[in-house]
Formats: sequence, C-alpha cells, structure tokens
Amino acid sequence: MGRMMRAQVVEAPNRMALKQVPVPEINDDEVLIKVKICGICGTDLKIYAGLYAADHLPLISGHEFWGVVEEIGQNVRGVKVGDRVSADICLTCGTCYFCRRGEGLLCESFTQLGIHTNGAFAEYVKAPWQNCYVIPDGVNDYSAAFIEPMTAVLESSKKMNCTISSSVVIIGCGLGILHAAMAKLRGAAPVMLIGDSQSRLEIAKKMNVADYYINIHEVDDVVAEVKKLTGGVGADFVLEAVGTPATYEQAFKMVRRGGVVEAFGVVPQGRTAQFEPYEFVLGEKKVRGSCAGIGNDWAEVINLLSYKRIDPTPLFSEVVPLEELENSLHELKTNKEIIKIFVSPEIDRKIRINA
Ligand SMILES: [Zn+2]
Ligand SMILES: [Zn+2]
Repeated sequence: MGRMMRAQVVEAPNRMALKQVPVPEINDDEVLIKVKICGICGTDLKIYAGLYAADHLPLISGHEFWGVVEEIGQNVRGVKVGDRVSADICLTCGTCYFCRRGEGLLCESFTQLGIHTNGAFAEYVKAPWQNCYVIPDGVNDYSAAFIEPMTAVLESSKKMNCTISSSVVIIGCGLGILHAAMAKLRGAAPVMLIGDSQSRLEIAKKMNVADYYINIHEVDDVVAEVKKLTGGVGADFVLEAVGTPATYEQAFKMVRRGGVVEAFGVVPQGRTAQFEPYEFVLGEKKVRGSCAGIGNDWAEVINLLSYKRIDPTPLFSEVVPLEELENSLHELKTNKEIIKIFVSPEIDRKIRINA
C-alpha cells in the first residue's frame, strides 16, 4: 500500500470526517504539493451543506491553498521540488467553443480543483504543472493562501475596467473591500464602499481602500446617498458583491446613465431581480458579469502582492489545525466578526492573526 495522509472528507451533506486516505498519485504532467495553508471560502460551506457540486461527494474540498512542491512528473517544467506554489484551480478542456475563444471560465466541461475534484483540506494535493505558479519569498504565508480569492477580484476588476478618475461604488464589505482597493489602484475617484457591518467598514477604513464608507444602517436610502456624492448623476461604475436581488436592484438604480453594473455577488439560481428596461435603452446602462479568476490572473495577483500594491492581511482572522475545520465552518456561519479563517495541516493549535 502507498503512503497515507490525513484529509477532511465531506462524505455526505453536513457530514465531514477526518480520515486516513492515500496520498494522491501524480502522472507525468502533475505536481504533488505538500499543503501549508488553505483558506475556507463560502463555497466550502455550500459543499459541506450539500448545496453546491453535491454530485461530486465524497470529496476533499479546499481550493484557496499554497504549499511546497514535493514531487514532479516527468513532463513538468517551470516548477521544481521545494518551490512554494499556488495553483490556478480552473480545469478546462481546451477544445470547446469557449476555450477556443480564450473564454476558459465558460468552458463546457468546466471544473475546479477542490470544488469538483479533491482539494487541499489534506496534507497533500496534486495539480497539473501548467496550473502551478511559483510564489516569491516577499509574499507572506497568509497572503499566499489568499491568491485565489484575489484572482476573482482581479478578473472582475479587469472586466469592469473602471478608468482613471471615474466614480465607483462597491456594494458589499467582504471581498468588496478588495474590490474597492482594486478600483482605487486603478485611479478611480471617488470610491464609495457600502456595507452592513461597522466592524468590517472600520477595517476597510484602516486599509484606506475608499473615499466614502457607507453603513446601510446609518442612511435612509443608499441610492440617494450615492446620488448625493456624485452631484446627482449616479456612479460611473457599480460593482455588486453581496449577492441578493435587493442589492442588485439598488445597483441598477445608482449607476449613472451610460454607466456599468458589474455583477460579482452570487444570487441563488432561479431567483430574479427587477430593473426597468427603459433605463437600459434610453439611459444606455450596461450590465456585465464575472465569476472567477483564471490563468494569468494568478501571475498578476502574485505580482501585485509582491510589490505590496494591495495588502489583504487586515482581513485575516485566524489559522486553525486541519482537525478543527468542521468547527470553523460553523463559526463562519454564526460569527460575523470573523472574516477569513485559514486551515493548516501543520499546526496543532489555533493561531489568531491581527489580534
Ligand atoms: Zn473560494
Ligand atoms: Zn472547454
């Protein structure tokens, strides 16, 4: 029998078990990675609850990871044993209509590592070498585990393409905080961040990501507030990062005539939001969407992190041992003060970050 490792396996909805399973075997084009840290994402909560990719259970989830290369296949280039690496989690076919047009995120057989295939809530994970990106020493261990969510933010920022001196509203103060940072980096002015949590808005303020921080509990009408801050015109760009019909409806109303709404927050499938088509014809408003990061987004995020153009560290709450994953999934659902929890198979007690 081959080598064994510890892994958290989602066996069925709401049932997770720490098990001994075989270390993944790599083929000639794959890399075996010893997991150092893996972040917990909302998607992991959905997988655990059986609400996402449930037909792929049993599964080891975990897709926001980095680790050290332990073993490489014969054909592997660009990474070597001992490198710190992150991996693009998108697994695309390369040959369908969308892949051939460079739109891999829309691939007809699109799957993601750690969501549809075994991921990094384990001691080891494997990935194709083409997906692996070397992380320079200048990127700290926690930020390295935050590359994947940042690629989603970057891809969406590139699609929204807010220009220098344009006004930008970000609705949502989870990843929204980083969307605001990205807009500011692009020279947007003013950047307005709307959130429902004062403690998160305070963290955003410390990070200096926006010009205005709007707590929805402190204003009567957020649409009127944005209009007021933009001389009655509305915002050039509005990015929705909450994922409710109500916040999308606000976005459609607060974007200026000719402006762009960028859809990022995921509303459950089948639910709808209302807008007035008139506004989109006579008002020439536009809506675009963006779902994840892919490919060179990894290289670009790593570059932004190594040159400290964006520092996500204030968003990190704690790192817990692999054994405590299930506890932390529950904590994330109930404790709104917690933003990001990381998991490490290499520690035996919880470490608080920024405490
Ligand atoms: Zn994620
Ligand atoms: Zn494809």
